[in-house]
Parts: sequence; structure tokens; C-alpha cells
Amino acid sequence: MANYESPWMNEDLRMYRKALREFIHEEFVPRQAKWREHHRPSAEDWKQAGATGLLLPDVPEEYGGGGGNFAHQAVVTEELAQAGVNFGCGVQSIVSHYILHYGNEEQKKKWLPAMAQGELVGAIAMTEPSAGSDLQAIKTSARREGNEYVISGSKTFITNGGLANLICVAAKTDPKVAPFRGISMIVVETRNLKGYRVGKSLEKIGMHEIDTCELFFDDVRVPAGNLLGKSEGAGFAQMMDQLRYERLMIGVGAIATIERALAITIKYAKERKAFGQTLLEFQNARFKLAQCKTEAQIGRVFVDNCILRMIDGKLDPHVEDIRPFDEAAEALAAVETGHARGKVVIQVS
Ligand SMILES: Cc1cc2nc3c(=O)[nH]c(=O)nc-3n(C[C@H](O)[C@H](O)[C@H](O)COP(=O)(O)OP(=O)(O)OC[C@H]3O[C@@H](n4cnc5c(N)ncnc54)[C@H](O)[C@@H]3O)c2cc1C
Repeated sequence: MANYESPWMNEDLRMYRKALREFIHEEFVPRQAKWREHHRPSAEDWKQAGATGLLLPDVPEEYGGGGGNFAHQAVVTEELAQAGVNFGCGVQSIVSHYILHYGNEEQKKKWLPAMAQGELVGAIAMTEPSAGSDLQAIKTSARREGNEYVISGSKTFITNGGLANLICVAAKTDPKVAPFRGISMIVVETRNLKGYRVGKSLEKIGMHEIDTCELFFDDVRVPAGNLLGKSEGAGFAQMMDQLRYERLMIGVGAIATIERALAITIKYAKERKAFGQTLLEFQNARFKLAQCKTEAQIGRVFVDNCILRMIDGKLDPHVEDIRPFDEAAEALAAVETGHARGKVVIQVS
């Protein structure tokens, strides 16, 4: 599959990819050391990303977005990963989708255009010191007082936490009912907000360019109109629904990173000489790299299949319903190998 191209690619996306690639390499790659040092990009970097069309590519134009679909988001994620740049615009897109899908017209018009311009930086705050995978166990509460919610609790591992000024917070609005019915998503605008505090950026083993922080909410008051959804208690279902968007984006970034690692390794193995020949001329190195490339290609085909499903609105949140070998994958295999379900020869070159 030497000349494989994702089946969702088209001319419009190729042009978008080219423009993004130039921007990322000219502007963001040289700033990586600075971002690492500061543990975050600057507010100006966010605005520049917005002006270049890197933010909210799959949000309709009427709300300031790029008007594309998930393929545009995949191109952004791939180009950043291919360039080795960590920038929290994926989380920006995740937050925008909560607003797009569950927000009312007023909320969408108020927040989305500013997010697309990078004037508002988004974060999603689900995880707490004692609740990660088990989201129903969150303790952060939001009690209604008149026309406001009063939010109390703390969150951890929050991407973009340091710069974020628009945070989508998962909080318990009704502690008396079953957790999956008592959680709501509430948007918190943090500028000059009393009782809101950001901890320092957490040290991680990678992605040092991104601010991953603890957030503290000490009786923070926000308008009741910041609730996402028609009524309280829809938050858990909203999170389960949106996690497929988030998970697929992580998958897209992961496969692009694998492809980059493989390309770097093959280049090195072609150049580096030992015992009178290049590393690539050693048979064992060729075996190992062929295996890596095969696994990367399998991952790519699966992720591309998920992207096609996402674009068609058919990607189900349940794992058992994601069938890797459906008509699209089979047709693709037929094109690439000459016959469906045939032997696939992957060449390291
Ligand atoms: C770089 C980074 C960025 C992040 N950004 C955000 C963010 O922006 N917003 C946010 O809300 N959160 C964020 N998170 C938090 C992330 O969502 C959590 O780390 C994740 O949900 C797992 O929670 P946990 O770390 O508490 O692990 P735990 O849930 O405590 O899990 C610990 C271990 O137990 C295993 N485990 C858990 N449940 C089961 C089970 N049912 N069966 C078998 N094994 C199980 C897990 O696989 C894991 O190995 C981020 C994390 C990282 C590392």
C-alpha cells in the first residue's frame, strides 16, 4: 500500500492540508521550545491559529467555524502530529461540539465565533482527583440559587487549563438521584471570576507544550443560563455521546504520530551505517520495520474507517458496533491489493 491515501481525502482537503502544513512549519514549529519552557502557547498564538483557520474547522460558518466536517478536523490533528507540535486545539474543538450540539442559539452565537477566533480558549473539566474513568463518581457540585449556579469542587489533568477562559464543567446538580441522571454540563467563563483558581501546570512525561492543570471552584457563581441542554441531568449522556468524537481525535493523532515515528526511523536506518552497511541492509532490521509498517497500516485503515463513519454520522459510541471490515474497508482493500481479502504485501522503502 505504498501510495495509500485516506479514502475521505479530496481536493478541498488537500489544499487545506497544504496551507496548514506551511503555517505550522513556519509559525508553530519554531516556537516549540518556548511553549515547552512556558508549559503553554501564548494567547497571541491562539489568536493567530484562529486567524489561520486552524480552530473549529468542523463548526458551521454561521457560528464562525470553518464549515467543514470531521475530515477537516482530522487534517488539523494529522498535520500537528506529523509536525510534532502539541497544541490544545483538539480540546477547543471538543468544547465547541458540546456547545454546538447541546447549546441554545444564544449560547452558540455568544461563544462559538470567539472560540473560532482564538479569543476564547476552551477546556473540558470532567476528571477529578478521585474520579477519572469512573465519571459518575465526580464530587464537584452545582447548586441552583435563583438565577445562578454555585459551583464547588476541584478538577485535575485539565488540558488548556492555564489559559482557558471558557470551561465546560461536569458537575452534580442533583446528588439525590442516580449519578448518571444527576450530572450536568455547565459553561464557566473564567475572566475575573470570584472563587475560581488555576493550580500550576502539572509535570508530564510528554506534551510539555500544553498546560495540563488543576482547577479549583470555590463557590463560583455563574448564570443559570450557562447550563448546556434543555434541563438539568443530561450531562452524563452528553459526555458519553461526545466521547466518541474525542476518542476518534485521539486515534487520528496517535496513528499520525506512529506514521511519523516510522518515517523518522526508516530514514535513520537508511542513513546510519554499521559494519560497512546501512542499518536497513540488515535483514533483521528490515523484518522489524516491515512488521511496524504493517501494524501502522492496519491502524490507519481502521482509523480511516472510523473517520468515514463519523463523517456519515454513523460512528456509534459502543465499541462492539464498530466493525473494522465493512464495505468501505473491503472496497479499499480491493483497490489497494488487486483483490478483496487478498494477501497484502507491505514494502519498506
Ligand atoms: C495528558 C492528559 C490530558 C488530560 N486532559 C483532560 C482534560 O482536558 N479534561 C479532563 O476532564 N480530563 C483530562 N485528562 C484526564 C483523563 O481523562 C483521565 O486520566 C482518564 O479519564 C483516566 O482517569 P484516571 O487517570 O483517574 O485513571 P483511573 O480511572 O483511576 O484508572 C487507573 C487505572 O485503572 C484502569 N481502569 C479504570 N477502570 C477500569 C475498569 N472498569 N476495568 C479495568 N481497568 C480499569 C485504567 O485503565 C487505568 O490503568 C487528561 C489526562 C492526561 C494524562
